[in-house]
Amino acid sequence: MEDNNNNTRTELDELGEFGLIDQITQDFPLRNPSSLKGVGDDAAVIDHGGERTLVSVDLLLEGVHFDMTYTPLKHLGYKAAVVNFSDIYAMNGTPTQIVVGLGVSNRYSVEALDELYAGIRMACEAYHVDMVGGDTTSSRSGLVISITVIGKAPQEDVVFRNGAKPNDLLCVSGDLGGAYMGLLILQREKAEFLANPQMQPQLAGFDYVLRRQLRPEARKDVVELLKQAGIKPTSMIDISDGLASEIMHLCKESGVGCQLYEERIPLDPITAKTAKDFQIVPSVAALNGGEDYELLFTIDQKDYEKIQQLSSDVSVIGYMTPEKGIAELITPDNHVIPLKAQGFNHFKR
Ligand SMILES: [Mg+2]
Repeated sequence: MEDNNNNTRTELDELGEFGLIDQITQDFPLRNPSSLKGVGDDAAVIDHGGERTLVSVDLLLEGVHFDMTYTPLKHLGYKAAVVNFSDIYAMNGTPTQIVVGLGVSNRYSVEALDELYAGIRMACEAYHVDMVGGDTTSSRSGLVISITVIGKAPQEDVVFRNGAKPNDLLCVSGDLGGAYMGLLILQREKAEFLANPQMQPQLAGFDYVLRRQLRPEARKDVVELLKQAGIKPTSMIDISDGLASEIMHLCKESGVGCQLYEERIPLDPITAKTAKDFQIVPSVAALNGGEDYELLFTIDQKDYEKIQQLSSDVSVIGYMTPEKGIAELITPDNHVIPLKAQGFNHFKR
């Protein structure tokens, strides 16, 4: 999976560091007027005028955050970029530039890195972002990808995690739990393959959840829809660690509580079916799974009508309460269960 289809393999040391940088940074045109200087100097130069600059970084380690046995490099590049864009959208901003740090062992060929960068390039095209710099170095333990994203927003548009008020409505985009189900399918097929290498992977029918895991999208469209409708969320976060964990973040930062209705949690039918196959309650997959990269946000009650007309892709799933830090799940038969943030804590594994 590390090499491209035509089976040529160019060793990294044939190109050298500078040759490699030239190779992987070609075909990254600058799209934003704020990108004054991109690759090719000691630093990129970015002009954000009077707007707020937003910065976020994400570090991905082979064997911790991704598994090369089932992750195509092009998808990995795409995902590594998109999850960073998602953090800027979660601030109600627009991502404009990325810098890419790469640690790579000689297990990878130049062609393999080309695949990775093809994915990064596709993400930059799709989200109108410029790749303006980076660094590559040799790694002794697998692939390391660190992407820093820079974004912007008018001062008055920036949305933080700490603005939710009691009675605000809790909303989420898209549907949840799919990426986690995709991961379970991939892990199951890997285990089957290791036990019996003659086995063909059984992936048919799971396209939706596999795509959610391997090639997620950031909700640029939702941020734009909200803006068009004149709705400014009072708080917002993107869902990287599971719904429960993100709700706890909003509650903690805003000093409020939350009542979440279990039957309102949006689930795709394939996600629900896959969860049942794994004997997981579908809403638990949404609450504790991760990597959906949907937006979770709160709005003032006066915006309820607007949000209902906005899009069927945004669900109102609960409301905020004055009970500081107390988040509860209300089941369909009216049981009240305190939410625990299990999340995807990589340090706990
Ligand atoms: Mg985030």
